[in-house]
Amino acid sequence: GGPGRLLELKGNIRVLCRLRPGTPSSLVSLEPGPAGTITTCYRGRQRRFCLDWVFPPDASQEEVFSQLEPAVLSCLRGYSVCIFTYGQTGSGKTYSMEGPPEDPGIAPRALQSLFQEMETGGQHRVTLSMVEIYNEAVRDLLAPGPPAHLVVRQGPAGQGGVQVAGLTHWDVPDLETLHQMLSLGRSNRATAATAMNQHSSRSHALVTLRLCSAAAPCAQGTAGTLHLVDLAGSERAWKLGAASVPRGDLHGPRRLREAQTINRSLLALGGVMAALRARRPHVPFRDSKLTRLLQPALGPGTTAVLLLQISTRPEDLGETVCSLKFAERVG
Ligand code: ADP
Ligand code: MG
Repeated sequence: GGPGRLLELKGNIRVLCRLRPGTPSSLVSLEPGPAGTITTCYRGRQRRFCLDWVFPPDASQEEVFSQLEPAVLSCLRGYSVCIFTYGQTGSGKTYSMEGPPEDPGIAPRALQSLFQEMETGGQHRVTLSMVEIYNEAVRDLLAPGPPAHLVVRQGPAGQGGVQVAGLTHWDVPDLETLHQMLSLGRSNRATAATAMNQHSSRSHALVTLRLCSAAAPCAQGTAGTLHLVDLAGSERAWKLGAASVPRGDLHGPRRLREAQTINRSLLALGGVMAALRARRPHVPFRDSKLTRLLQPALGPGTTAVLLLQISTRPEDLGETVCSLKFAERVG
């Protein structure tokens, strides 16, 4: 049992699905649990989707996290783990990833669990970085001073990774400091959100924790890594094509570019995961900033978990089917 075992059995990408509580819909029915299924009835057509785990709408934050905890803790053994929340705006991505203070989500629980384990276990050091990707521009959410765009480039040969020039990495001595830094990063993201009108639903937020042995600098030795990624709303990727920008809409060009770049990152993520799943020799990591940044975290020997958030509202059904198709392709 347990997700660790599931992972061994089916490769390194798992897809979990959480339904947002709300209007019960006769158009979506589910069998929750491991190897759960969701059946949708859309435009008179029934479709059945199988996922590694389906959480019912009343699943608690704790239940969701308990499925992810073994993967999270595997970082302490040097593994690289990536957890994504995917879905249309309003489907509960941020609720699952961050959660309200009184009912914390995956990120705070994961950090708590890691720090608890480190107290009892080995000697580790932790560094934190936090970025946002918006319109294919990468911004450091923890850097002091005004936000600057960061340049992503290929890392030194042999290290197989990318470098983000100027990205700040912060030493995190304890859990309290970590929570303070996360809320700083979150508020930096929120500042941009009010300035740019729902900016946050169109940007990807990446929290990266690197765990290294206390004896050696992080640059040396095997470092476990945990990436927690709150993805941009998936709806625009599918809905807002060139044809749908009304003529005379002054924001048209900007919105179109936005749609195309969000489209690019999410499509690229889907493409990368599908290529990894099919063990294709070429994995198109270079197709977007998101996949470039995450390249080291998505290669062989890593673990990726996609938490698909879906809504059961009848008016969201089109998006729900799109999300489930995305999951079907990558998982
Ligand atoms: P997203 O980040 O995908 O745009 P949010 O996480 O902001 O969506 O969720 C939209 C709204 O639904 C928020 O008010 C959030 O509190 C609520 N919500 C989402 N999922 C749940 C849940 N499982 N239980 C209670 N409220 C939820
Ligand atoms: Mg959100």
